[in-house]
Amino acid sequence: MAGEKAVSETVLVVGGGMSGVTAAVEIAEVGYDVIIVEKRPYLGGRVVQLYQYFPKLCPPLCGMEINYRRIKSNPRIKVFTLAEVQGISGQEGNFDVTIKINPRYVNTNCTACGKCVDACPIERPSEFDYGLGNTKAIYLPYEMSFPMKYVIDDKYCDKCGKCVEACPYNAIDLNEAPKDFTVKVASIVWATGWRPYDATKMDNLGFGQYKNVITNVMMERLAAPNGPTKGKIVRPSDNGSIESVAFVQCAGSRDENHLPFCSAICCLASMKQATYVREQYPTAKIYIFYIDLRPFGRFEEFYNRVKQDENVFFIKGKVAKVTENPNTKKITVEAEDILSGVKTRKEVDLVVLATGMEPTTRGEKLPFEAMCDDLGFLVSDLQRPGIYPAGCVRMPMDVMTCVKDATAAALKAIQSIVRR
Ligand SMILES: Cc1cc2nc3c(=O)[nH]c(=O)nc-3n(C[C@H](O)[C@H](O)[C@H](O)COP(=O)(O)OP(=O)(O)OC[C@H]3O[C@@H](n4cnc5c(N)ncnc54)[C@H](O)[C@@H]3O)c2cc1C
Repeated sequence: MAGEKAVSETVLVVGGGMSGVTAAVEIAEVGYDVIIVEKRPYLGGRVVQLYQYFPKLCPPLCGMEINYRRIKSNPRIKVFTLAEVQGISGQEGNFDVTIKINPRYVNTNCTACGKCVDACPIERPSEFDYGLGNTKAIYLPYEMSFPMKYVIDDKYCDKCGKCVEACPYNAIDLNEAPKDFTVKVASIVWATGWRPYDATKMDNLGFGQYKNVITNVMMERLAAPNGPTKGKIVRPSDNGSIESVAFVQCAGSRDENHLPFCSAICCLASMKQATYVREQYPTAKIYIFYIDLRPFGRFEEFYNRVKQDENVFFIKGKVAKVTENPNTKKITVEAEDILSGVKTRKEVDLVVLATGMEPTTRGEKLPFEAMCDDLGFLVSDLQRPGIYPAGCVRMPMDVMTCVKDATAAALKAIQSIVRR
């Protein structure tokens, strides 16, 4: 659109995780209007499901809360949750975007009093806890949800109406229908992030077969005080305490049959999770099975700190097999210890599979002609400016890198408005 004025001065941000929220507040604070479209009923993305951030081990909700305040105080930002982009046409400076909003069934009268939850007779597995716990069919996604509103999961709700009777504020409408509308925007930041690689695809690692084999994202929920066990790390088979844990690195990653790339954060995530276990169980033994350790850049210091722990053992070897003792539910992990050349077997209470971050664009059809690399990550199409990827949909990265990446994408999105 060289030489032409943008028809719209609004930017659309798709995905309301750390990357999308960062891009949105940076753009709005420069003085442009922003629309955030988020598929889930709440903002925050996957970081709000984490217990702590490496390397400082601080709670992710603090950083997110600051962003929520920036959104609330900025009238330039409009947030649509339970929303998805259906179609995009036009070009830089003048895109027409169709957005579909799915029903929440709970309106702005909701004060989050929780009476509806007490009345609801139906339970559903909590996707926020990666299936480790349940919620009612009407639920608050998490205690600091943005927006602070309940939502009904219509896959489970049978519309019995008990929540409607219990609500003192007339905040529930079980007949709410989906809505479509079209907006004009100058540019788009695509920040739809990642999903955990499906661990059931690795037959040899026991996920889905043995309860005491979990994934790294589930471990975050087990350790989180707002998680299904209120932060107590226990064996899922019997809620028993833990004396030993094995972390299986590169579970599916750097493997042509699964995810042929390194997710960059899994080594650090397992080291961080080792500190969760050691804090709760001072005598617990931790075995980290790895191919290569990759604590990149300044994170080397965090690795050195964890390595000094005499109860944390790093074993260089790819795990070949994970089996369960059906009587004790203990899990045996087998690998060849490459440094000693000896086959090693460790029997543990809990196995954590360090599964990688798969971009949400991998194998998915997008509502525009998207350019993805051969791993499925979205790339900037230089022939068709105006749509800019940000965060883990572009490549695997930690949160601090996401913030920088999203700020860069925000600048590109603003250039699409002011470029002449
Ligand atoms: C086990 C584990 C532990 C980790 N621990 C740390 C840590 O301690 N420190 C650290 O720095 N990093 C950590 N990370 C990495 C961190 O989770 C990512 O850097 C971060 O989540 C990336 O944010 P994002 O916004 O790019 O993506 P996401 O968090 O995935 O957010 C994307 C958002 O887009 C939404 N979305 C998806 N598709 C659509 C669509 N079609 N339309 C609309 N919205 C959509 C999603 O619902 C989501 O809200 C960890 C990762 C793992 C796997």
